[in-house]
Amino acid sequence: MCDKENNDKNMTYALKQAQEAFNCGEVPIGAIVVAADGTVIGRGYNKVETTKCQSEHAELIAIRDACNKIGDWRLSDCSMYVTLEPCLMCFGLIGLSRIKTVYFGAKSPLFGAQSGLKDNGAIYSKGLTVHGGLKESECIAILRLFFGQARYERGGCETKACIPRNCQETAPEEKRGDN
Ligand SMILES: [Zn+2]
Repeated sequence: MCDKENNDKNMTYALKQAQEAFNCGEVPIGAIVVAADGTVIGRGYNKVETTKCQSEHAELIAIRDACNKIGDWRLSDCSMYVTLEPCLMCFGLIGLSRIKTVYFGAKSPLFGAQSGLKDNGAIYSKGLTVHGGLKESECIAILRLFFGQARYERGGCETKACIPRNCQETAPEEKRGDN
């Protein structure tokens, strides 16, 4: 399998995690940790609302899962695939965990830390490389769908009761008049 196919397959896996978050009413962000031999050893999705704690980002949960699985905090030669550009906290943990490569989908203009890390030699000097834009449109689409739906539900629309909480395919529809 070529690199592109492999990367796409792994990001599709991360997107499935994002879908899990979506189904729980969480901002849909998913992450996986992949070992050097291609095995997925960690996975996680955003649980900030469920746990009422800002530490429960998808990346952190995926890293914890991977460490539990291999019995080591050193994730050397592992890669992370995450649907949204990691924040400063997560990039810090990724660096400390010695992850080698990060692939993210959508950029995060509000919280993404990639540009900030360019000034942080401590992490970059360890050889972490970051690639953005992998399956970007799909990663953006699920976020748009979520925020559109969340706004819709807060907006007091008459048809909100029809919105299934666990189905992303059914987009909310405007209640239309007789015509
Ligand atoms: Zn984060």
